[in-house]
Amino acid sequence: MNDPDRRVLRDDFPLLARSSHGKPLVYLDSAATSQKPQLVLDTLDRCYRLHNANVHRGVYELAAEATDLYEAAREKTARFLGAPSGQQIVFTRGTTESLNLVAFGYAMPRLQPGDEIVTTLAEHHSNLVPWQQVAKRTGARLTFLPLLPDGTLDLEAAEKKINPRTKLVTIAHVSNVLGTVHPIRRLADLAHRVGAALVVDAAQSVPQRLVDVMALDCDFLAFSGHKAYGPTGVGVLYGKREMLQRTDPLLFGGEMIDRVELTDSTWKDAPWKLEAGTPPILQAIGLGAALDYLSGIGMDRIHRAVQDLTRYAYVSLADLEGISLYGPGPGTERGDLLTFNLGDIHPHDIATVLDSEGIAVRAGHHCCQQAMRWLGVPATVRASFALYNTRADVDRLVDGLRKAKELFQ
Ligand code: PLP
Repeated sequence: MNDPDRRVLRDDFPLLARSSHGKPLVYLDSAATSQKPQLVLDTLDRCYRLHNANVHRGVYELAAEATDLYEAAREKTARFLGAPSGQQIVFTRGTTESLNLVAFGYAMPRLQPGDEIVTTLAEHHSNLVPWQQVAKRTGARLTFLPLLPDGTLDLEAAEKKINPRTKLVTIAHVSNVLGTVHPIRRLADLAHRVGAALVVDAAQSVPQRLVDVMALDCDFLAFSGHKAYGPTGVGVLYGKREMLQRTDPLLFGGEMIDRVELTDSTWKDAPWKLEAGTPPILQAIGLGAALDYLSGIGMDRIHRAVQDLTRYAYVSLADLEGISLYGPGPGTERGDLLTFNLGDIHPHDIATVLDSEGIAVRAGHHCCQQAMRWLGVPATVRASFALYNTRADVDRLVDGLRKAKELFQ
């Protein structure tokens, strides 16, 4: 996909036509949340106008339509991830809720003192804090896979760290702060060799690259709808069939039950036992539309295009005097985001100057305080790219950074 093609795709995203501070908006914060294509907006509008009812309950035509659309979104999500069945897809509120469901519903009842949960030093807080809590409550130990100086995993060390005490390995597919792409299949093999489960935080990979859960052989995989061009309020937990069956519900109430007696109840099978109460119906249907949109373009094509743009951005930014770019260099596979500092200018000052130029980037610790400590900086700037960004956006970013340098240095 070349730049003119990307400009055509950009027209699918109405928000990108707006300005910010009187300048055409350059949106470079898709790792936080992506913009939505017209297909998703139309789907939400049409469903609220024509098909809105609660699911799995009513016998009337409208309720059956809503249920069919909701369950069809589950099937679409399964197909998108290469999962054998829709029954392996749980709709949650987002990656955070999906990871909490694995931590408290699957891991907590099984872990014992002396067991180990293995993760890395650069996980999003959503893939660290729940495990800290589970470790505290069970007496299990949290251990960390070391990173090499460029932010990639030290695989030799990982082979030693993942040992017979390891019960679970949990890792981001693509780091939201360093951009590292972790070797998930290799880690799955290492985990399975010692009988441990592999959990993947795919919040940053599902939107930009083909994710095939069978090829990865992961036991659980989590992502958020809103980062994958879908609505907020919906997320996904994929699990191997037996793993989801062995996961206990965290929420109890309507929808998830089979039979209710006065003092006890039984549950439905997964995934429905893990979806208590009214689920995010329209959001899930909207996510299904987003996945249709992505499949229509082709994930391979999207991946190549955004990678090409990220490389262009890396090379353009690397030219700026005083820049420190973190994470793997251009010779190593990386996710579609760049994290950096510019001289000793505070990241928030950089983001403020860029904002005044109509350019939206993120500044701060990116929900990854421990990775900031590992980098030895309090904060960084992050520019993240999506299928609608163009080389012109990157050029505007570089101009904005030059302006920040002039102002602050
Ligand atoms: N994991 C990663 C790698 C992320 O980048 C994010 C969001 O920034 C999350 C988890 C949390 O996602 P959510 O806030 O949608 O639950």
